[in-house]
Amino acid sequence: MENKKTFYITTPIYYPSDNLHIGHAYTTVAADTFARFKRLTGYDVWFLTGTDEHGQKIERAAKARSQTPLEFVSQIVEGIRHLWERLAISNDDFIRTTEERHKRVVSDIFERLHSQGDIYKASYEGWYCTPCETFWTESRLEGGNCPDCGRSVELLKEESYFFKISKYADRLLKHIEENPKFIQPVSRRNEMISFIKSGMEDLCVSRTTFDWGIKVPFDSKHVVYVWVDALTNYISALGYGSADDKLYQKFWPADIHLVGKDIVRFHTIIWPIILMAAGIPLPRQVVGHGWLLLDSGKMSKSKGNVIDPHTLIDKYGVDAVRYYLLKEIGFGSDGLYSEDALINRINKELANDLGNLVSRTLGMADKYFKGEISSPGPAEGPDDELISLAGDTPAAVEEMIEKRDLSSALGAIWKLVSRANKYVDETSPWVLAKNPESRERLNTVMYNLTEAVRFITILTSPFMPNMAPRVWPLLGIEGRADLQGWDTLTWGKLPSGTVVKRGEALFPRIETEDKKA
Ligand SMILES: [Zn+2]
Repeated sequence: MENKKTFYITTPIYYPSDNLHIGHAYTTVAADTFARFKRLTGYDVWFLTGTDEHGQKIERAAKARSQTPLEFVSQIVEGIRHLWERLAISNDDFIRTTEERHKRVVSDIFERLHSQGDIYKASYEGWYCTPCETFWTESRLEGGNCPDCGRSVELLKEESYFFKISKYADRLLKHIEENPKFIQPVSRRNEMISFIKSGMEDLCVSRTTFDWGIKVPFDSKHVVYVWVDALTNYISALGYGSADDKLYQKFWPADIHLVGKDIVRFHTIIWPIILMAAGIPLPRQVVGHGWLLLDSGKMSKSKGNVIDPHTLIDKYGVDAVRYYLLKEIGFGSDGLYSEDALINRINKELANDLGNLVSRTLGMADKYFKGEISSPGPAEGPDDELISLAGDTPAAVEEMIEKRDLSSALGAIWKLVSRANKYVDETSPWVLAKNPESRERLNTVMYNLTEAVRFITILTSPFMPNMAPRVWPLLGIEGRADLQGWDTLTWGKLPSGTVVKRGEALFPRIETEDKKA
């Protein structure tokens, strides 16, 4: 146990100023899939998610409801936890930045960087966008407005603490260049390299414009701004710097920080520099995934085009929603959301391809052999092709997971699903069943199909965790860990005499009003 390889993956901590939408659900489902895959393949995994609970937006939203900020966020955080439960998210911890274990680490790091001269106080004048909590230089404004949100800005002068990130720029650049996998995909890596090369200004890391945050430990007029506060969650959750830091010792540095492409810069420039300054090793990899776009552009609360994940789960089920998200958003690219596309994938890839393979296999085994499958006879016809593809698929899936390409990993599994469906057509069990002399051949065909279903069930389990627990009882191997693990993906392990049975459709077709759909 102690010698198991470790794997630490994080999602961004979400900002609970409102309920989360399907885009946040994608990030968390993707991280969950990596975590489940690593557990399945024998790693000791730590999977962290959480919430970033400070800042002016939350302070204001709470005030508008006559609540304290903590009361306000706590309700939303409950909703987020509930959503993750519904989506079968297997996180090991959930960090809230309002927790003592977190605040202590933020104060400690801020104080340390200040005492070593990397954080200094200076007077600052700039154009401030309140909704974005961001200062802009005059040259960055667009038409006199905030370049991020387009709203009006006001000229503010305040004393702030600044972090000398420019001091570490060369070291960071060298690290990025020497570690090609540090930032994925490559397009994001190139963006970050040119961003650093274009020159970096020191970063304003405190605010006096609001109170709802962690006080600067030696200057209580200031609160620590989001950078040092939020990003530090990845180590505070592991007990960094506390009396009990065994999780930190075991799991840091993180193997993957999975983030949306809009926050890659914070995770690949600001966060590594905070760590460098504090003398802490850098994470191994930051993966910036694409967005789920709508016809009307990026999903956002201000545009009012938000898709509520609960509605989709209610209508289509957890596994179908997870499958759709993971398949639709390709590595390094955006996905385009539409409910029609979701229904199409459910009907074609889940109901027709996968669901049908399982129900045909079990139905025929039941009909021809009362479910009892015996050892196969000699391979003939298309047997070898099916068996050899099944043997190659685990490595193909693993390769795509290592490339952080979940959509292509599913593609590799579906190649096997298609091959198995083609095998049914090629071997035509219903023809074999008519001839008593073909009985042994018919058994071999049913064995191969059942074994293919076992393979596919294991392979899909990190993506659609609710499917395997439904399939194992149908395959008659419930509770048989020796037939359900990644290390059991060797063809022919399914024991002779296994008794399978029919079950309900795994993925019922979605009937739409348009009969042609
Ligand atoms: Zn703005």
